[in-house]
This record gives sequence, structure tokens and C-alpha cells, in this order.
Amino acid sequence: MIPNWLLKRAALTPNAPALSFQGRTWSYLHLKEEAMERAGKLRSLGLDPGSRIALLGGTSAEMVLLIHGCLLAGIEMVMLNSRLTSEEIEYQLKDSQSEWLVYEEAFREKASQHVCQCIVYEELLQLERVPVQLEQMWEEDRTLTIMYTSGTTGFPKGVRQTAENHTSSALSAVLNSGLHDGDAWLHMMPLFHISGFSILARAVLYGSEIRLFEKFDAAVAAEEITAGRVSGMSVVAVTLERLLTVIEKDKLPVHPKFRTLLAGGGPVPVSYLKRAEQCGLPVLQTYGMTETSSQTATLSAEDALRKPGSAGKPLFFTDIQIDGVKEPFEKGEILIRGPHVTKGYIGKHTSTQTLQNGWLHSGDIGYFDDEGFLFVSDRRSDLIISGGENIYPAEIEAVLVEHPQVVEAGVCAMESDEWGAVPAAFVVTRSAVEEESLREFCQTRLASYKVPKAFHVVDELPRNASNKLLRKTLRESLTLRK
Ligand code: AMP
Ligand code: MG
Ligand code: MG
Repeated sequence: MIPNWLLKRAALTPNAPALSFQGRTWSYLHLKEEAMERAGKLRSLGLDPGSRIALLGGTSAEMVLLIHGCLLAGIEMVMLNSRLTSEEIEYQLKDSQSEWLVYEEAFREKASQHVCQCIVYEELLQLERVPVQLEQMWEEDRTLTIMYTSGTTGFPKGVRQTAENHTSSALSAVLNSGLHDGDAWLHMMPLFHISGFSILARAVLYGSEIRLFEKFDAAVAAEEITAGRVSGMSVVAVTLERLLTVIEKDKLPVHPKFRTLLAGGGPVPVSYLKRAEQCGLPVLQTYGMTETSSQTATLSAEDALRKPGSAGKPLFFTDIQIDGVKEPFEKGEILIRGPHVTKGYIGKHTSTQTLQNGWLHSGDIGYFDDEGFLFVSDRRSDLIISGGENIYPAEIEAVLVEHPQVVEAGVCAMESDEWGAVPAAFVVTRSAVEEESLREFCQTRLASYKVPKAFHVVDELPRNASNKLLRKTLRESLTLRK
């Protein structure tokens, strides 16, 4: 069994700082009291333990209180991505059979779907509070959250994440990173994505603090890091790059309290890691996904500089193997097992086999080096097979971003009569740049079959709400450009 997180935490360290947002702060006791109030109001909607509701809103302290209210009351949460269209929201509400949708006023238009009962935050807060009998302990298999995979491929799948999944993930993470007095995490990720939710889970389990912000802001992040207000922060490649630019520009000193810049969600170019090293920013690459309730392999601080580009070793409770591969450096699909792996999908995908012979098939290609460090090459579905050669878009993107004029790069497959497929590149640049300059830059660093056959300069790259590059959208835009 697993203790009801916040109940236990508030009993253990009631006065420890739990949350700060827009100048307001909460201790764990205070957080519990406010979350209890939300729990009582949710009960008055007729929501009992095991009921399922969907949440739609931006990042705010109110959203955190509501999430903790649901957790306390045993209500399952479908975490809706706030960037979804109303059609996508409707699909997820139906697929998850949510009883209620609780949304923020700003999302009223997207929310008025009549698929289930709806209520705005503010109205919920006006309701009469009903006394709530709290469960001291949770069954391990209890569902806490449902997150739809970002849908970079195919139909979104609702992933069931249990108390055991989230708890074991948080424990694995801390066995790698350690816990220091006064640890505080800078939270600028979406709350509905596993990267953002897992920050809440870890904080309440560890009794550490969250400094929450509405969205990523490089200047604010740099200020928090250099002022010594936080010890860790989660980033993806694009936000890491923006943060580096600010820190480099003013040569800002990183405070010694800051020890983890957790970089995940996709490949991080080694050139960014080198820049971070120059700035004294300790970046730890991590590999994980919705189906593993966050981190599954993470580089440790000791190995960060020795193994740039690696996602580290499988965490304490994780086992990873490369499908059908026995030798180091040989590439194949990454297979994962452990207590953090989802028990399955819900709705339309309920019968989709999550595990095969006990292993989760990640859909990602990677390899282990001779010391057991994992390297993630790319999504299997993004692989470009050109005249029989395998090309990994991430490798080409990493080269492109080293070009002095290139800020961000995305590479995808383009049809070719001769080769089946060839790589095409999309770049965001600092100033005008000749296509020839990009081509020459690639030619000196990549085998000729990997050099993009087309270059497109764009204002921005298509990304999902977690800032993940959507290569599928790039492929579609190529068809439109024809
Ligand atoms: P999501 O479920 O939306 O969090 O997406 C998970 C996917 O992000 C994984 O299946 C990978 O394709 C990708 N990903 C996460 N971490 C890494 C990493 N360190 N390197 C490369 N790809 C990653
Ligand atoms: Mg996925
Ligand atoms: Mg995904």
C-alpha cells in the first residue's frame, strides 16, 4: 500500500515550504488544508473515490490545489492538454468517460461540449463543502492520473498511471539525484504533461518545495538559478537553448545550490551540453515517457561530462533492454520494464497490448555503450530509410544547430523517387542565411546521404504543448509545399 501522499507529507513536515506562485507561498499543512477544501467541494458534485474527472486549465497555484484535492479525495484525473482543440478535448472526454470537466474560465469556449457535466473553477469554489473521509492508504493499483500521449503519431491513447507508477518513478529519481536540505524545483512545465505532474509527485514525496511559474521564461529562470532560489529545473532542448542564451549573454554565475537541470522529452544536442558546461550549468539528460510516469533512465551528475549525449543508466527500479540486440553499440527498439510502467491504456485502446512478454515497447530506437550507458537515437516512426541506409533526424538536427546562424532545427523524411526517402531540413535562424552555407556546413560533418536535400527557413518549428518537435507536421508541410 502507498500512503495518501499529501496527508502523510503534511503530517511529517507541516511547516516545510511546499509551493510558491506569484508571490504567495504555502507550507505543506497549508497546502493540505486548501486541497482538503477542494476535495470537499468535489465531493459535493457527487464524486466518490474512483470517480473520474477531467481538468482543463493553464498552470496556476489553483490548478495545483485542485490536483491535490483530487488526489486526497481519490478522484481520478484526466489531464487535458490546454493546447488541444475543442474536437480533441471532446474525443478525450468521451474516450475517458469523464463524469465532470472542471475548467478555467479562459477555456470556456473549448470546454462547452456537452459531452459530460462541466463546471468552471470559480463556480466549484463557491460550492458547499461536504465532509470527506480520507483514505490513509492507497492500493498500489489505484489510478491517480490519465494522460493522453501527445499524439505525435496516430490516435491519442489514454495512459493509466497508478499510485505505484508515480511513487516508484519518484523514488527512482531521488535515488539518482539525492535530496538536500532546502531543495526547491523551478516548475515551468505544463502541469498536464508527465514532466510537469511528476514534479508535483516528487515534491510531495520528498517534502521539498516547488517554485511554480505560469510558463517558461528564460530571464526569470536565469534569475531563479543565479539567485540560489532553486536547486533543480526541468527543461527540453528548446527551453535549454533559450536559458543558455540568457546566461551566456550576461555571463551570469550559476549559484552553487543549483545542481540539476533535468533535460528530457527529446534529444538534446551535444553542442547545448557543451555550452551548458561552459556556463557551469549541470545538465542531466533523462529519458522517459508518459507510459513510464516520467524518468526511466537518467544520467548522474558524476557521469554528465564523461558521457555527453547519453540518457544515463536505467534508474534503480528500471530494467531496459534493446530488442534482439546482444552487443554494445548495436541499435534496436528500447524495451522497458519496472513498477513505473503503465498497467495499460483506457477507452478505445483498452485492448491494445501494453506489454509484450512483460516488456513495454517504447517505439524509440537506441543502444547501450560498453559501460551500460543508454543512448536514445530517435523515434522509430521518424527514422528515414534512404536507399537502405537508416538516417536519424536527431543526428542531423544536432549538426544544424551548431551552425552559428541556426537557433533551432527540425528534420524529416521527404519522398524521393530515387532513394525512397531523403532528409529535408527546417531551420529557425538568427539572421538571413544562404542555403549553400547550411549545405556546406552539413557536408563537412555528415555522410553525404545524411545531408538534407532541401532546406527551409521558417519562423518557428511546429511543437506540441510540451515543446516537443512535431516531425509529422513537418512531413505534412512538405506535401503542402509541393
Ligand atoms: P511523452 O510520452 O510525450 O513524454 O513522449 C515520450 C517520448 O519522448 C519518448 O518515447 C521519446 O521518443 C522522446 N524522448 C524522451 N526523452 C528522450 C531523450 N532523452 N532522448 C530522445 N528522445 C526522448
Ligand atoms: Mg509516446
Ligand atoms: Mg509522446
